[in-house]
Amino acid sequence: MHGRYFFSEAAAILLFLGVSKPLTIAIDGWSSCGKSTLARQLASRLGYLYVDSGAMYRAITLYLLRKGVDLSDLTQVRERLKEIRLDFSYNPARGASDMILNGENVEAEIRDMKVAAHVSAVAAIPSVRELAVARQQALGKAGGVVMDGRDIGSVVFPHAELKIFMTASPEVRTQRRLAELLPKYPEITVEEVKTNLSQRDHIDSTRAVSPLIQCPDARILDNSELTIEGQLEIASGWVKSLQG
Ligand code: C5P
Repeated sequence: MHGRYFFSEAAAILLFLGVSKPLTIAIDGWSSCGKSTLARQLASRLGYLYVDSGAMYRAITLYLLRKGVDLSDLTQVRERLKEIRLDFSYNPARGASDMILNGENVEAEIRDMKVAAHVSAVAAIPSVRELAVARQQALGKAGGVVMDGRDIGSVVFPHAELKIFMTASPEVRTQRRLAELLPKYPEITVEEVKTNLSQRDHIDSTRAVSPLIQCPDARILDNSELTIEGQLEIASGWVKSLQG
């Protein structure tokens, strides 16, 4: 009882001071829709923590590939997961956190095509999801967080105050991803990028454990024809309407 009074008093004081309650914001959607750009900008505008949940699945994938683990051997995968420690470290140059795998900064390496080719298969393994979801829930338990991924609104934070489902046409998504990859892979073709995106979308939305879904209470943001500033304004408007 005492605890309940304390929290309601604290909330009343915050309201009196004009400080809004920190929200939990879940952003889900298809690959290469610009989820992380929006999540990062929204978090920075609100002074919230930003968590890129996809980076965790990418780091786990990188670790298993480096160790040569047979991804179809679920017992071996589960054993290997015990060796993994995932952390984030803020990088002021990017204005976002880098992914740290067992103390090593792997932010650049997890964006490789090799990781992209295997990450959705790894993310479909139940023990991998258990590990990542537990870490994500711990990071966001105090609220004041923007997290992007595929199952944030449905599984990680089903009670998030704001859920956004992002989408864009396959052509727009392919062009955006191509522009990101070309500096590193000048030989890459439109077809290769398109195939990787559609394969990931297919695996992500059809897997047995926490598939990518559009939550019924999510607000849809189709950014095919929006600028980066435009999508930020729309999402900021939704946040304002919730803060009252
Ligand atoms: O967001 P990003 O494209 O970096 O995520 C890489 C992959 O990680 C996705 O294609 C998906 O397979 C997996 N993922 C997931 N659940 C999340 C975030 C990412 O399954 N919450």
